[in-house]
Amino acid sequence: AAWEREVRRSATPRRDGGLSVLVTGAAGFVGAHCSLALRGRGDGVVGLDNFNAYYDPSLKRARQRLLASRGVAVLDADINDGALLERLFAAAPFTHVLHLAAQAGVRYAMRAPQTYVASNVAGLVSVFEAAAKHADPQPAVVWASSSSVYGLNTDAPFSEEHRTDRPASLYAATKKAGEAIAHAYNHIYGLSITGLRFFTVYGPWGRPDMAYFSFARSIVAGEPITLFRAADGADARRDFTYIDDVVKGCLGALDTAGRSTGSKSGKKRGPAPLRVYNLGNTSPVPVTRMVAILEKLLGKKAHKRVVTMPSNGDVPFTHANVSHASRDFGYRPATSLEAGLRHFVEWFVQYYKLDIKGSNVLAGKTTKRKSM
Ligand code: NAD
Repeated sequence: AAWEREVRRSATPRRDGGLSVLVTGAAGFVGAHCSLALRGRGDGVVGLDNFNAYYDPSLKRARQRLLASRGVAVLDADINDGALLERLFAAAPFTHVLHLAAQAGVRYAMRAPQTYVASNVAGLVSVFEAAAKHADPQPAVVWASSSSVYGLNTDAPFSEEHRTDRPASLYAATKKAGEAIAHAYNHIYGLSITGLRFFTVYGPWGRPDMAYFSFARSIVAGEPITLFRAADGADARRDFTYIDDVVKGCLGALDTAGRSTGSKSGKKRGPAPLRVYNLGNTSPVPVTRMVAILEKLLGKKAHKRVVTMPSNGDVPFTHANVSHASRDFGYRPATSLEAGLRHFVEWFVQYYKLDIKGSNVLAGKTTKRKSM
């Protein structure tokens, strides 16, 4: 059928030894960037996304159009549709799955808890099931966990072996559950699984629900922003990680993911890799500093309200140790928050066609971005 032909075309690598990757959440922020980077180096990519309305779906559609213009098809589908995944694996021999579809966001979990269970727990099982049972040979799976699994840990920087048994939000709890589910699928089916714990990823084509993005909008609109300070008075700090660095980490993890050892019959032939890596920036920055950089770039002051952090799922700080990712696939975050936010604001101003007087970004020469 036409559907199968389109999937096969998009999945076919354009270089010898290229990967063939199914990217879930491909119309999302990280998914769109990774899909373009993979296609750009000649790998085959098929995307899948349910285009849900957690944030403005028109941004997801715009990413989908950009991907289509580069030869990457993104199908409208839900990861919980097991029959659809089965058909996909039958249509194209994917070597890898980059599973990024999830319900993201820490605070929204208090309003829509079941959405997190549906996408991050049931959906994850659905993807692992299809990869383990309906693909032959089994693809290696790389999926997005989160720095939030470190929860209320205070012994920073966080290393992969630090405790993750104190999640501060339901979102974090579902990612932690995902890591346990990954262990079971690796153990039973010999599925190669790599979990990536992303640390506050930001950049062009980013997520409107995240602080840097919503703050930029509020500053432009002259609306107040709310900043959280820990109970001891310290500013909240985040290990902001630029999207291009995260993309390099994802591609590095895919390239070293190793082979699954299971087969369609469910029999496993030996131990397959089960790994987990931090992908962070290794230098936490106070959120107030992030706001100051935005103010400078936008040429406008923010109306700040500072309140003590409520227990809404946020944690006081995050800080990654990335020595494992650096050792295993040469991961080295290279973008300062100043440079990364400049790229973001340039995209932001262009995308929303903003006319901002005094903007540092528009006044100066725009920088050359290598990626989307
Ligand atoms: P995003 O919301 O932009 O992307 C996720 C995409 O998945 C969205 O386009 C959404 O429509 C899609 N999706 C959600 N549920 C789905 C389902 N059931 N079926 C099909 N598609 C579905 O978020 P992102 O920032 O690109 O995050 C990508 C991954 O990284 C997520 O797993 C997220 O939890 C994780 N993560 C992100 C960050 C960050 O700072 N951006 C930090 C830690 C972890």
